[in-house]
Amino acid sequence: MTLGWHPARRLLIGATWKLKTLAANTKIEWTHRTWNPVRGCSMAKGSETGGCLNCYAARMSARNLPELKSPTTGQSFARILESGPRWTGDVELIEKALHLPAHWRSPQRIFVNSMSDLFHEALPDEAINRVFAVMATCPQHTFQVLTKRPERMLRYLNGKPLANLWLGTSVENQATAEVRVPLLLQVPAAVRFVSYEPALGPIDFAQGVDWIIVGGESGPGARGFDVAWARRTIEHCEIEGSACFVKQLGARPFEEVGGEHRRLVLLDRKGGDWNEWPADLRVREFPKPAIPIPSATLVQNVPLPSASADAP
Ligand code: SF4
Repeated sequence: MTLGWHPARRLLIGATWKLKTLAANTKIEWTHRTWNPVRGCSMAKGSETGGCLNCYAARMSARNLPELKSPTTGQSFARILESGPRWTGDVELIEKALHLPAHWRSPQRIFVNSMSDLFHEALPDEAINRVFAVMATCPQHTFQVLTKRPERMLRYLNGKPLANLWLGTSVENQATAEVRVPLLLQVPAAVRFVSYEPALGPIDFAQGVDWIIVGGESGPGARGFDVAWARRTIEHCEIEGSACFVKQLGARPFEEVGGEHRRLVLLDRKGGDWNEWPADLRVREFPKPAIPIPSATLVQNVPLPSASADAP
């Protein structure tokens, strides 16, 4: 990550990245693809009324779409309750999805488990081993694993970091950041990143995070997003020499001007069109991985997948 860029250069580079990151099968701007070898989840400790409350994955899973049901039980992983879509708590490794990355020849950034949490307490280590084995044998890709359970991630990972694996944790306010970021910083990884989305309050970030993604909440029940939180994050990254990626301003962005709470009216319902943003918020940077080591050195004692991977 280069420091001290001229703002105009930053905008230009951001625009270039935007083109490069047009998603192959996802609208998530900081990745190319999502890969979901695990389904099912439950609210993470500390995020029940915060980052997990309006969980998009639970809402989608409660729709009873055949492709989101359990292949073994035929049941959905979530259902609609009075309080909203809620997980059943079942979590399952999806065999037919496990080897998909081996079939994607061109190098891609792959967000692992956008619809679950790889380090969920109900998922056995053996299942996590199998996901890691696939990542270790696909060095052409960069895998981005994001969890709200960094304590288990830290317990699980005790080898050298995979060169093609970026590990991250999600936080939404100072309380979750204070618990999760210090754990993340102990994890061996080529890139350690934080997803500060949905941002629900200001955060003073600790030093040492390579990449911070910041964004406001969208979807039903979306809560407000003070663009000052994004500005503060951009400033922190500039000072620290970290990369910053402003993903979206959410459905209810606002700012304080002269002591007044002023709503930003945007056409994009997620606040994801940066052409509508104040110029200083148009920051979309990526980290530079610092550990170019052979991927084969990471995962020890993990059975590698067979050559006969499932077809996509
Ligand atoms: S950890 Fe992620 S997938 Fe699981 S309930 Fe929370 S937001 Fe949803």
